[in-house]
Amino acid sequence: MKPSVIAIDGPSGSGKTIVGQRIAREFGYLYLDTGAFYRALTWLALNRGVDPHDGPALASLARGSSIEIVAAPAGEAPGYSVVVDGKDVTRELSLPAVADEVSIVAAHPEVRAEMLPIQRQATRRGNVVIAGRDIGTVIAPDAGLKLYLDAPLPVRIARRIEQLKAMGMTPDPTKVAAEMAERDRLDQARAVAPLKPAPDAVILDTSTMSIDEEVALIRDLIAQRDP
Ligand code: C5P
Repeated sequence: MKPSVIAIDGPSGSGKTIVGQRIAREFGYLYLDTGAFYRALTWLALNRGVDPHDGPALASLARGSSIEIVAAPAGEAPGYSVVVDGKDVTRELSLPAVADEVSIVAAHPEVRAEMLPIQRQATRRGNVVIAGRDIGTVIAPDAGLKLYLDAPLPVRIARRIEQLKAMGMTPDPTKVAAEMAERDRLDQARAVAPLKPAPDAVILDTSTMSIDEEVALIRDLIAQRDP
């Protein structure tokens, strides 16, 4: 049987979104980006004046709000819209202000405890490609296929800059580099659900492959699990 849940973890800029969306489209699966939940909560906190260091206040903000991820019109980056309390905030989630605080918000155990059941529930529907930092280790440890995408930091920085430009923004390369390095550090060092490959994850260095090659390799991995 094809794996009904495909977990993709890895640092930002490792290519999870583009590869995950391609696989999801090819197999008719839903693509779910869990980073969008943490970004949406960070955006809410910034707008409501909630301190990104106050875990209990952030958890209560998450409980009192609705964060929805809906499919965007075909071809529109990043492929989905994030709607917070009825307002489409997708573009705002890429702003430096959100990127600078999101890993602080996501490190709180209280915040992760709010996100876990929502994200785990999304995997229960099956036929889902779900991307993030702790999917193979915490959210979907039973996923039929676990991938861990990685690439050297300079490669990931260059990709992020191109992504932001594609969204019509004019990113400052120095700031993007500093923000990504700091986010890597925080995501890997946190006590709860740190960024790391699951023991049974297939690790792919996406700097040595084209997207078509990555997709072909993942297609093979799916076929191996569906003899
Ligand atoms: O994937 P993206 O760059 O949008 O993720 C933003 C941040 O959300 C990450 O740097 C990380 O701090 C947090 N995150 C997380 N767990 C996930 C997905 C994202 O902690 N499953």
